[in-house]
Amino acid sequence: MQGVSSHLPHQVVAPVLAVIVAHAINEFPYIKERAGVFRIGFGYDIHRLVEGRELVLGGVRISHRSGLLGHSDADVLIHSIIDAILGALSMGDIGKHFPDTDPRYRDIKSTEMLREVMNWIKERGFSVTNVDTTIIAEEPRLAPYIEEMRAELSKELSTSPYNISIKATTNEGIGLIGKGGAIASFAVVLLSGGKNEHGNKAI
Ligand SMILES: [Zn+2]
Repeated sequence: MQGVSSHLPHQVVAPVLAVIVAHAINEFPYIKERAGVFRIGFGYDIHRLVEGRELVLGGVRISHRSGLLGHSDADVLIHSIIDAILGALSMGDIGKHFPDTDPRYRDIKSTEMLREVMNWIKERGFSVTNVDTTIIAEEPRLAPYIEEMRAELSKELSTSPYNISIKATTNEGIGLIGKGGAIASFAVVLLSGGKNEHGNKAI
């Protein structure tokens, strides 16, 4: 004898199952709470390239005839990631928390700034889900350094290198970046696990 389900077409079974699953998720909030709240953030930064400075990107020293000019080590990749994290937490921008008029941050490594920002993430119950970045540099060629940068950032951001994407492109010779006079970086960051503005873990 055949079961009842064998008489029901998939067009009926699939929507019914979808309703049951959606109902179960609503009935058992802990399923939602495990994921917690998701927060996305976007960051951008640019620094001039000048002679007599060391080039540091993603916490990695890069062999080049010039380096980025800035109050700190001017690691434009990490600065864009910090700005994205601060955006995700609605905490303003990097200049608000690390003003370039403050002598404490003179020549500071950007990895140290990132560690401070990571503490703010953890204090709020969040962790980094993934990061996607694009560095825009006419030169040097960054491909040989990408894996080292991913490894370095995965340590700083307490996540797997799989969750850290670093892309590099040129500016096709256009503008100051295209002439090799500056490097820019864009970053998006997804945080998860914290609470919403009402203190709830559910979205
Ligand atoms: Zn910067």
